Amino acid sequence: MGNIQYFIDGFKRFQRQLYGDNERLAAKLAKGQSPKTLVISCSDSRVDPALLTGCAPGDLFSVRNIANLVPPYEPDNAYHGVSAALEYAVCYLQVNDIIVLGHSGCGGIEGLLSAADGEMVGEFVGRWVDIAAVARERAIARVAAGHEDSLSCICEQEAILTSLTNLQTFPWLQQRLQKGTLALHGWYFVIETGQLFSYQASRDCFEILVDSLSS
Ligand SMILES: [Zn+2]
Repeated sequence: MGNIQYFIDGFKRFQRQLYGDNERLAAKLAKGQSPKTLVISCSDSRVDPALLTGCAPGDLFSVRNIANLVPPYEPDNAYHGVSAALEYAVCYLQVNDIIVLGHSGCGGIEGLLSAADGEMVGEFVGRWVDIAAVARERAIARVAAGHEDSLSCICEQEAILTSLTNLQTFPWLQQRLQKGTLALHGWYFVIETGQLFSYQASRDCFEILVDSLSS
C-alpha cells in the first residue's frame, strides 16, 4: 500500500473544494474543457505545471514525459503519444499558447549526458532522450567555448530549444504560428532558487521571468 492513503486523503480535500466550495466550477467542467494553453513538461515529481502556475482544473492541457521533449513531425504510422496530444491541443482545442517547461536537475538530461560517454540508459529512456542529442552537442560546444554555466544546466535549456524547434516541424502548428494565432514559450524552472526563466528569441538566451523571493 505504501503511502496510498495520503493520496486518498488528498482526493477528499480536492473533492470538498470542487464539489463543496466551488460547485459552479464543477458544473462548468462537466460540460467539457476549453483550455487555451498547452504545457509540455517533465514527468519529474517536483515540477507539476499546474501546481507551479497555480492553475485550476480546466486551465491547462498538459503533456508530461521524460525531459519535456517533443519529437519531430513523423507521420509514419507508429505510436506517437506526444504528437497525438499536440494535434488534439492545436487542431481541436485550438490553444493559443504552448509552454515547454524544463527544469534544473533533470534526470532525463543527466541520462542524455551520460549517454555521451557511450552509456545508453535503460530499455526506453536512452532512446527517448536521444531526441535531444543535438542539445547535448550544442551544450558540450558551449562549455568548451567557456560558457560559465554547468553542462547540465546548458543542456537542460538547449533541450527546451530542441522541443521548440521540433514543434515547428508540425505543419498545422506552423500554419497557426504564421497566422499569429499561436505563440511558443520556453520556460526553465530552477528548483534550488525558485526562479523561473524564459527564452528570449531576439537575444537567444534565457532571462529571468520571475525572480526568487530573496532577490
Ligand atoms: Zn526532468
